[in-house]
Amino acid sequence: MIPILDLKQEYQELKSEIDAAIERVLTSGGFVGGPEVAALESELAGYLKVPHVVTCGSGTDALYIALRAMGIGPGDEVITTPFTFIATLEAIQHAGARPVLVDIDPQNFNLNPSLLEGVLTPRTRAILPVHLYGQVAPMQQIRAFAQKHGLRVLEDAAQAIGARYCASGCQHPAGHACNCSNPQAGTLGDAGAFSLYPSKNLGAYGDGGFIATHSASIAEEARLLAAHGSRVRYYHVRPAGYTSRLDALQAAILRVKLPYLEAWNTRRRQIAQMYNQGLRDKVLVPCEMPYALHIYHQYTVRHPERDRLAAYLKDQGIGSSVHYPVPAHLQPAYRDLAPEGALPAAEAAAREVLSLPMHPFLGESQVEAVIQAVRTYA
Ligand SMILES: *Cc1c(COP(=O)(O)O)cnc(C)c1O
Repeated sequence: MIPILDLKQEYQELKSEIDAAIERVLTSGGFVGGPEVAALESELAGYLKVPHVVTCGSGTDALYIALRAMGIGPGDEVITTPFTFIATLEAIQHAGARPVLVDIDPQNFNLNPSLLEGVLTPRTRAILPVHLYGQVAPMQQIRAFAQKHGLRVLEDAAQAIGARYCASGCQHPAGHACNCSNPQAGTLGDAGAFSLYPSKNLGAYGDGGFIATHSASIAEEARLLAAHGSRVRYYHVRPAGYTSRLDALQAAILRVKLPYLEAWNTRRRQIAQMYNQGLRDKVLVPCEMPYALHIYHQYTVRHPERDRLAAYLKDQGIGSSVHYPVPAHLQPAYRDLAPEGALPAAEAAAREVLSLPMHPFLGESQVEAVIQAVRTYA
């Protein structure tokens, strides 16, 4: 069996370091916040090259806390993509605002910036692009549009930690590491929201998330909101705060993993390159945009008989997954956002996408077995 993701191998590789980190926390007697969390925040800030990182309880929390910290609230509209994990839309609703959907660019599955103009209203306050599968959305056009119309930009970077954005078009040869100093996904807008969910490229052993920003005021406001609207315990300066925080065990585990992230992402790019070479005449393989260093949170192909291909792979003992089978506007909970047929590129992608096994501990023979199975079917 080749599962789509295998977290057991990673733990086996890092066992002695992780076990030591866990023991350090258990013997310290401090379990929420504290020095481990503070150290992780500064290490993440160093890695991403931003002055401020605020950890919180999940990627979903990071999204809505960031929106509120930017001043988005009731009566506001936030433009986003229908082809994402539902948390992106939930966050907009939790902030009290209304999600407004634009269709995706079928080439890269990210929101299509040429459609922004068509949904702009006097209530539009922000754009929330999602760097889907680990590839940065077209931020140059998104930022230019936001600037022209005075909008905020929050990046959903849950799937994109370590992805780079190279506006100058420095071409990254497929399968190679990033040797450029280009900015990180999640640091290109007013703020970026990241998830530390176990399956993400940098995953905790439980839930977690964080906000990265260049703005001291957004960071300060996010910190307040995540801690019951208080700066000093039992004194509350903001209404409707949250209890959203990272625990020390997760922070200590993540501090072990962070130094490996670049190498793991490079390995994912190498695996993607092997898949590309083995599959490009059989299925539509992912397109790497010239401006993006894709970090392959998912390796997602398109095939007109997606469901039959997935069933065949399952018979062969190969895991796969559909990210995502139903675009947001066709979900029963979100029917009011747009009618069926209104966002055709997202609807077509939802019918055809299939994610293949992808994680840094996938061996060459396993990659070869996946390629052979897909080739036999397709
Ligand atoms: C995982 C994910 C989230 C939510 O993160 P959680 O930590 O699970 O709350 C949000 N957006 C996208 C695109 C994601 O993939």
